[in-house]
Amino acid sequence: LPKLPVFEAIARHDPDSTVVIHSNSGRRFRYGELLGDVCKVRNRLYETAGRNDIDGERIAFLVENSYDYVVTLLAILAAKSIAVPLSPAFPAPELQYILNHSEALMLLSSAKFAPKAEEVLRTELDVEPVYLQLNKFQGDGVHEKVTLEKTCPGSAGMMLYTSGTTNRPKGVLLPQSVMTAQARSLLQAWEYSPSDHLLHILPLHHIHGTINAIFTPLFSGSTIEFLFPFNADAVWRRFAAPFLTPDQTYHPEASHDHHHNRKITFFTAVPTIYARLLTTHKALPPDMQSATRTAIAPSNLRLAISGSAALPTPIKRAWADLSGGNVLLERFGMTEVGMALSCGLDVADRVDGSVGWPLPGVEARLVDVDTHQVIERGSSSSWSSAAAAADGRERERERVGEIQLRGPTVFAEYWRNPEATAKEFVDSKDGRGQWFKTGDVAVRRPAAAAVLNGGVSAGKSNLPSQKDWARGELYFILGRRSADIIKSGGEKVSALEVEREMLALPQVAEVAVLAVPSGKWGQKVGAVVILDEEHLPEGKWSPLEMRRALKGRLASYKIPQVLRVVDHIPRNAMGKINKKMLVKEIFQDEFS
Ligand code: ATP
Ligand code: MG
Repeated sequence: LPKLPVFEAIARHDPDSTVVIHSNSGRRFRYGELLGDVCKVRNRLYETAGRNDIDGERIAFLVENSYDYVVTLLAILAAKSIAVPLSPAFPAPELQYILNHSEALMLLSSAKFAPKAEEVLRTELDVEPVYLQLNKFQGDGVHEKVTLEKTCPGSAGMMLYTSGTTNRPKGVLLPQSVMTAQARSLLQAWEYSPSDHLLHILPLHHIHGTINAIFTPLFSGSTIEFLFPFNADAVWRRFAAPFLTPDQTYHPEASHDHHHNRKITFFTAVPTIYARLLTTHKALPPDMQSATRTAIAPSNLRLAISGSAALPTPIKRAWADLSGGNVLLERFGMTEVGMALSCGLDVADRVDGSVGWPLPGVEARLVDVDTHQVIERGSSSSWSSAAAAADGRERERERVGEIQLRGPTVFAEYWRNPEATAKEFVDSKDGRGQWFKTGDVAVRRPAAAAVLNGGVSAGKSNLPSQKDWARGELYFILGRRSADIIKSGGEKVSALEVEREMLALPQVAEVAVLAVPSGKWGQKVGAVVILDEEHLPEGKWSPLEMRRALKGRLASYKIPQVLRVVDHIPRNAMGKINKKMLVKEIFQDEFS
C-alpha cells in the first residue's frame, strides 16, 4: 500500500483492538484485519478498471454505514484515486448528476444498494462508469501483514458534494493531504484516543460523517460503532445498554451482548438529531430514562458535539439538564474546509451561541462585507452592536465580517469549476497563500464580555484544559451572506440572531427567519414559526402577540414584520433549510 499517513497510523494501532462494530448485529472488526482487506479491495478496483494506473480517477460508491464503507474509502485512497461517496437516499437523477459531474470511472456498490446502482446505470448517462458490485468485502478476520511503500502519493483524495442548501451541490476536491491536515487538527482539539468509542449515526456523503467520525478516529485507534439506519429509540437503547441490569428486559439482545457493554464516549450529530433525541426521551420507560441519563453524563459520554447548522440554545440547555451538565460542544465547518472553528474541551469555553475559536492549523479573519477591510482585533466594522441596538443605547460598532480562512485544511478546488474556485479565493498581501471566502458572516466578541452577555457555562469539567489553541475573542455565526443577512432600510439584520431570540420564547418550537422582498425597505424580516402547543393554553398566538413578546429582546427593526405559523419546516439530510426556496413558498404573495 502507498505510504499514506492514515495507513501508517492504522498499522501502528493494537491489531486486536476494535475498529468497527455494527450496532444491530454486534459484528465487530479489528484494526489488524483492516489493511489486508483494503489491499484486497484495492486489487479488485485494479482488476475492474483493467489497469493499475487509476491515479486521480473518480470512483463513486454506494455502500451502507458499515465496515465495508471504511474499507472501500481506504481502498480507493490506496489506489491513489478519488473517493466519491454517494448517498443511498439520493433519487436517481441526483446520483446521475454526480456520476456525470465527477466523470466517474467506476461505480461501486454493496449488495444492499445494487438495485439502486443498477437503476441509475439504466438512465442515460454522459459517462460510462464500469460497475463493480462487491458482496463480500471483509476477509476472514485474518491479520495480514501489509507493507507500506516508501512514497506518499499526491493524487489520492476524496470528493464531497456540498449540501446544496443554497444552490446545486458543488464538487469539492479534498486531496489526501488536506484530509490528513483536517484530521490532525481535530485530533489535537478534541483529543480522540484509543479508548474512545464513537456512536456513528450520520450520513456518509458529508464531511461531518466522514472526516470527523471516520477518518479522524482511524488516526487515533478509536472504535466506530455504526448504528444504521438512524432511529432515535435505538440510539437511546444503545446508550443505555451498559447501564442496564440483565433483568431489565427493554432491549434483551443488547444488554447481554458483550459489545454493548462498552459505553459510548463520543457522539457527534446535527441540532435536529439532538432535538429528536430529546423528544423521544420523554416517552422512554422510567428505567430507560435513568440509564440513558447516566450514559450521557459528562463522566461517561466524554464529548457530545453539534454542528452543520446553528445549535438552538434551548436544545443545548435541555441536553445539559437531562445529562447533569453535559454541555454540547458546538463547532463550525463546511465541505470546503472541514472543521474551522470550535469551542474548547473545557466546559467553560462552550459559551451559548458561540462556535469558539479557529482550530489548530486554521488561520481565520473577518472581513467587512462592504468595505472589504480586515477587522483587526479591537477594531470594528460598519455593523451596529446587537446588544446596543436592543436596549436603545448609542450604536456601538461590532467586529462583524465574512469569515475567511486559510491553511493546510482548506480544499484544493471546486471540481471542473475554475470560475467558482477563482471567485471564492482572494489574494493576500503577505504572500502566505490565498484566503477562502466562506460566505458566512460572524461577529467576534471578547470571551469575558460574551459570557457576561448571557452565555452560560453549566456544569463543571473533569477534563484537562487544552487551551493552547482556544483563546482570544470568541466567534458567533450570524449566518450566510446570501440568505441570512437581511438588508432592511439600510440596516443589516442577522437571521440567526433573530432566530436565537425567537427560540428563547417558550411558545416557539422551531423558526426560520427569512429575507422577504419589500418595495419600501428593499427587504423585510420574515419569520416562519412552528408553535409549541404545550406553552399555548389557548392554542393560539397572533403575530401581534409574537411581536410584542420580542420587544425588549430585539431592536424594533429586527422584529419580524411578517410572521406565518406552519406545521412543518422542510430541511435537508443535515437538518438545513433552503431559505431561498422556503421564502418563495411561504411568502408567495409578497413576491410581485
Ligand atoms: P451549499 O454550499 O451547497 O449551498 P451548504 O453550504 O449547506 O450547501 P455544507 O458545506 O455541508 O453545505 O455546509 C456548510 C455550511 O453550514 C456553512 O457554510 C454554514 O453556513 C453552515 N454551518 C455549519 N456549521 C454551523 C454552525 N455551527 N452554525 C451555523 N451554521 C453552520
Ligand atoms: Mg456552502
